[in-house]
Amino acid sequence: KLASREFKSEDTKVKIGNVVVGGDRIVIVAGPCAVESHEQAMTIAKEVKKYGAVLFRGGAYKPRSSPYSFQGLEEEGLKILADVREQTGLGVVTEITSVSQADLMMKYVDVVQIGARNMQNFELLKCVGRMDKPVVLKRGLAATIQEWLMSAEYIMAGGNNNVILCERGIRTFEPYTRNTLDLSAIPVLKKLTHLPIIIDPSHATGMREKVSPMARAAVAAGADALMIEVHNNPDQALSDGPQSLYPEQFGQLTRDLYVIAPVV
Ligand code: PEP
Ligand code: MN
Repeated sequence: KLASREFKSEDTKVKIGNVVVGGDRIVIVAGPCAVESHEQAMTIAKEVKKYGAVLFRGGAYKPRSSPYSFQGLEEEGLKILADVREQTGLGVVTEITSVSQADLMMKYVDVVQIGARNMQNFELLKCVGRMDKPVVLKRGLAATIQEWLMSAEYIMAGGNNNVILCERGIRTFEPYTRNTLDLSAIPVLKKLTHLPIIIDPSHATGMREKVSPMARAAVAAGADALMIEVHNNPDQALSDGPQSLYPEQFGQLTRDLYVIAPVV
């Protein structure tokens, strides 16, 4: 299989502009859950860049659990992301929720994300497999590692080898940790696949006080990259405020990470 170590023994390095995911240095992706306005996105982008993020994340199409929750700014959000890239030089990552968004994604963003809820949306996987864009593939809420790797296989079978696997917490019986961040998946994946791994402690834990400890642990366990939600005004955030770090907290985290491993 294309994603397996037997097929390709050396680690895959995914290049996003001059950023390499899966190289010698830890890559930090940061930004709000959702793009809410031009001012919000630009403010947060400048903050996270100052503290060491090299890629910016922000959702324009939000797969919310409730249809009454904020659904994202859609194309307007993508335009804001493109402007953030223009003005800050940060590459931008956003979620694709439908095949119909592919052309817009090609036009405006650097990396497309497949959300946890779409890990087995096979038409969407085939669609990003045909796109010439790196893909962050999130693990499904209750997906086994084999199922997750099979979803990576769908993307690679279409010709797109630039897949980054994202562990974002899985459903277990324990409510205190919301989802359980499966850090043991890191050594398992390192053995099974050559694809790089990004850890998302924000969605895994759902609470900002738990984000930094799990981010540090992920890097210590061999993650190639981190994806962290950061908001300049989490109390007013339209989504995922409770898990979003304040910019200064994010700064403290990156300083702590430099002690554990080399960071881009
Ligand atoms: C996100 O990254 O904002 C997101 C919706 O994540 P997940 O698909 O992991 O829930
Ligand atoms: Mn979120």
